[in-house]
Amino acid sequence: MNEIVILSGKGGTGKTSITATLAMLAGSDAVIADCDVDAANMHLLLKPDFGKGHDFYSGELAVINQDQCTRCGICEEKCRFHAISSPGGQFQVNPIDCEGCGYCEKVCPAHAITMQERFSGNLYISQTKAGSFMVHARLDIGAENSGKLVARVKNEAKSLAVAEKKQWIIVDGSPGIGCPVISSLSGATYVILVTEPTMSGLHDLKRIYAVIKKFRIKAGCIINKYDLNANKTNEIKRFLDEAEILHLADIPYDILFTQAMVEGKTIIEIQSPYKPVFQQIWSKLSEQLNHKKQ
Ligand code: SF4
Ligand code: SF4
Repeated sequence: MNEIVILSGKGGTGKTSITATLAMLAGSDAVIADCDVDAANMHLLLKPDFGKGHDFYSGELAVINQDQCTRCGICEEKCRFHAISSPGGQFQVNPIDCEGCGYCEKVCPAHAITMQERFSGNLYISQTKAGSFMVHARLDIGAENSGKLVARVKNEAKSLAVAEKKQWIIVDGSPGIGCPVISSLSGATYVILVTEPTMSGLHDLKRIYAVIKKFRIKAGCIINKYDLNANKTNEIKRFLDEAEILHLADIPYDILFTQAMVEGKTIIEIQSPYKPVFQQIWSKLSEQLNHKKQ
């Protein structure tokens, strides 16, 4: 089983539409994991049926028992995150501000505060229009710990792939280099980096590559909208050579990509010349992975 993680150092490079297109090519032989949990949007293209949903709990939240509270005010005074206030004399915790540190529970003389598991979002196991399973999640407003949710999405995807004997796990990772990205990299077989020819595109490509290197995972790169800035594209290619990152493909800027997205489709589902480009990416990828297994 191969676990491919698609990443971009920055947002807006076209990562998700490229991931969805690769998922369409893989068809029913893949489990898709949408690990961009802070801004999950692959469902717009792969149309999962939101089949099986689970609540996801992560971290803790202080809860005040009003019957036990003696209104002493200690918790409000001691909470360094200013998460407790007392409008109308009743002490309340603001769930957005509460960091779940548990200090108020310790200092409350009336033992009126308990720490409870915090509802953080929903996790779904669905079937997509490509015939594949898809594990995806939605974080609740203000919820944190998306690194944990990413780990949960990946673990579910892995268990499904093993149980259903699927050859591929295709993971849409978060932009940036933070906790959700680190979490999506663990256990990966190969990373596809998606970049664009801009100063920030190259800068963030270098940053994300520095992270991948620490995990010793092989990487390939797709330069999206490569024709918008020939000089920057050449600079990116030089970097790929130096870093020994396989240059998987150049994809031009084309209004057809936007058109496909507006229709809720991937680029290979509408009339376009790009199916061979993605098939070539797929075969380069397969070659790399087969080579690695030898
Ligand atoms: S410290 Fe406990 S008793 Fe005092 S106001 Fe807070 S919840 Fe109420
Ligand atoms: S758990 Fe920590 S952050 Fe939350 S209300 Fe209590 S002291 Fe404040």
